[in-house]
Amino acid sequence: MKIFSIAIHGGAGTLVKGMMTPELESRYREDLKKALDLGYNALKVGKTAIDAVEIAVKSLEDSPLFNAGKGSVFTANESHEMDASIMDGNTLNAGAVSLVSGIKNPVALARDVMDKSEHVFLAGEGAMQFAREMDFALEEPSYFYDEFRHKQWLEIKDTNQFQLDHSVKKDSKFGTVGAVACDQYGDIAAATSTGGMTNKKWGRVGDSPMIGAGNYANNKTCAISCTGSGEFFIRGVVAYDVACLIEHKGMSLLEASEEVIHKRILEIGGDGGLIAVDSEGNIAMPFNTEGMYRASKTSLGEELIAIYS
Ligand code: ASP
Repeated sequence: MKIFSIAIHGGAGTLVKGMMTPELESRYREDLKKALDLGYNALKVGKTAIDAVEIAVKSLEDSPLFNAGKGSVFTANESHEMDASIMDGNTLNAGAVSLVSGIKNPVALARDVMDKSEHVFLAGEGAMQFAREMDFALEEPSYFYDEFRHKQWLEIKDTNQFQLDHSVKKDSKFGTVGAVACDQYGDIAAATSTGGMTNKKWGRVGDSPMIGAGNYANNKTCAISCTGSGEFFIRGVVAYDVACLIEHKGMSLLEASEEVIHKRILEIGGDGGLIAVDSEGNIAMPFNTEGMYRASKTSLGEELIAIYS
């Protein structure tokens, strides 16, 4: 049997110092562990990488701690607009949604776009119409309400600022979630989901639902899920850039991921991190922020759950 592995993230950057208590830290670790085990156990019983990443991301979307699904941040209109994407490295099929509201698990909707429509990317009202046709139940706004996130929004609601999750300083926390996996058959996949930025307006969309920017998978090279300053990750076409360095420059997964996160994205002014796997089950999880909520597990028995560097 081939080596199988999974990595997940709950966003680059960490809670501002002083806000992270031991209790809160153990809640983060618990929710990371839960998502990791769900994804890993799926791989263990022979499920595919694309199923495993969807399962792990759904679990992170159900946690109020991360900026995706239930924990999504507030927009300028005091609503929630979520983005998600998923890609299968075996078939190069992909699905993505942006600006959706009321959907409990946006990654599942992205999966349906991939599997049940002829399209790759649906946005806004059209994506919502598709969700209704696919019989997605809509949650009330109260499902997404979180006191902490609401307070974050109240602090900046009458300004022109928009803010990455948990940040007081621009760069302290992002919060998007993602998963990448390599299954027993050597196929890889990636999924990413986010509520975006606090107080965002004008239909702002970040890198998370954009194939090639925040999410990418190709068995030939790697599967990647990104987190960070979305505008820069779009301009750096970050996920695809890692794949290109592997394919065209012969770099290893680790070399290519580090080159992009520690050099290329910094050069254009962006910050954040990514998780990556290849079809041999190797994992890389570089970030250039103070921390990144992350976890990984392989069939060789290695397991990591970490927040800070
Ligand atoms: N990349 C996401 C965005 O710009 C934010 C994040 O990673 O938390 O929407």
